[in-house]
Amino acid sequence: MNVLLVEPTYRSKFPPLGLMRISAFHKERDDAVTFVRGKVPEYRMVHWHRVYIASLFTYELPRTVDTVKYYLQTVQNPLEDVFVGGIGATLLPNYIRERVPCQVIEGPLDRPNMLGLGESPIAEYIPDYRLIDSVKWQYRPENAYFIRVSKGCIRKCKFCAVPILEPTFGYLQSVNEQLEAVRKKYGERQDIILLDNNILALPCLPQVIQDIREQGFHKGAKWNGKKRIVDFNQGIDARLITHPVADLLSSVCLSPVRLAFDYDAVEFEYRRAVHLLAEKGFIQFTTYVMFNFEDTPESFYRRLRVNLELSNELDIRVTGFPMRYVPIDDVDRHFVSVNWTWRYLRGIQCVLNATHGMVSPNPTFFEAAFGKSYEEFLEVIAMPDRYIIYRNQYASQADVWRSEYRKLSEAEKREFLEILGVLHSSRERDSDIVTNSRFSTLIDHYYPKTQKML
Ligand code: SF4
Repeated sequence: MNVLLVEPTYRSKFPPLGLMRISAFHKERDDAVTFVRGKVPEYRMVHWHRVYIASLFTYELPRTVDTVKYYLQTVQNPLEDVFVGGIGATLLPNYIRERVPCQVIEGPLDRPNMLGLGESPIAEYIPDYRLIDSVKWQYRPENAYFIRVSKGCIRKCKFCAVPILEPTFGYLQSVNEQLEAVRKKYGERQDIILLDNNILALPCLPQVIQDIREQGFHKGAKWNGKKRIVDFNQGIDARLITHPVADLLSSVCLSPVRLAFDYDAVEFEYRRAVHLLAEKGFIQFTTYVMFNFEDTPESFYRRLRVNLELSNELDIRVTGFPMRYVPIDDVDRHFVSVNWTWRYLRGIQCVLNATHGMVSPNPTFFEAAFGKSYEEFLEVIAMPDRYIIYRNQYASQADVWRSEYRKLSEAEKREFLEILGVLHSSRERDSDIVTNSRFSTLIDHYYPKTQKML
């Protein structure tokens, strides 16, 4: 059988583990397997017996559907020979079905014969780590074991897709089995990335940590002269961190500690967990900070500040990692929650572009990027994009903008920011600008008459 595996060209950090498992299965059958990212003309000329296409975020589904359409002509019967699976396909299967003839696989491939070839569950196959060598895209980290010990989560957070994708929390497979199988087939690897949603909730956590330790990932472990890393990449649940759990975690080379500070109500537990882990010697923290859900800009700024405070107080580094909320079934990223405006969200995106998505715990860097106070933060993110991104180059224009903007009352500012959101998506922008002429001096900064740019 001639098989094509496709990952659409969305920005994926980690390798496509689902496709890697499918590859392992087909290679076991002696099928010829090819892996590509996106639309590659030379593979459109080939006849494939099967094409498998991955999906990830729902807001990337339009691109996924486009990729599926591109390869339809390469198979004999798309309804039988083209398979689309993954997170996006599981959350919105009909979005795909209504647009393109193919088989949509909903949920994980954890039952026998889901591909109709009499196979055992694909989820139990060891991913084919060599598959991704054929593409130029750099998956990070390059040399790690990617494993999952559990599925699902014990909680049901409203903003999270996990309770829908994997409604039942449970144990999957031991660390030892997974690492040993990969090692036997592909050799030793440097680090471990665990993709569990809530690993601390496992009753057998002590055994899991003991296995990690005994597999060569104890505290301070090195391999090939380099420090090893254990990364619970989806974060660990601050509410489940007790003294014994912190002790367990400190026995392996966990770095960084990833926590979430998604809304104000978890502040007490979040602070408590950071204190406890700092006490056990952890220094590097990365904290997911969600915004644009039910929060406000003020809450977001304050939560970032809490990280600075903790860093300073405990002599650690808590780097913020802002995550913009997008409803789990949206097929674009346009959602603006009631307490936010399009301009503020855009402003944060501009600030984060310059900082690679991270928020430094260094007060000087933080204040230069996000402002010294909440009021200054609101001004920073209200500015035109280029004044934010090229701060030094546009410093004098930003001063002029600021003095104009400060003349507005609070109600006028709100109105002005709403107008910017409307102008951004307007098809009649020039006439809309004329309609809002009372803000014309300020609007000029966003859409200069000569350049018509933001
Ligand atoms: S704890 Fe995390 S994984 Fe679990 S439902 Fe909440 S956000 Fe999702």
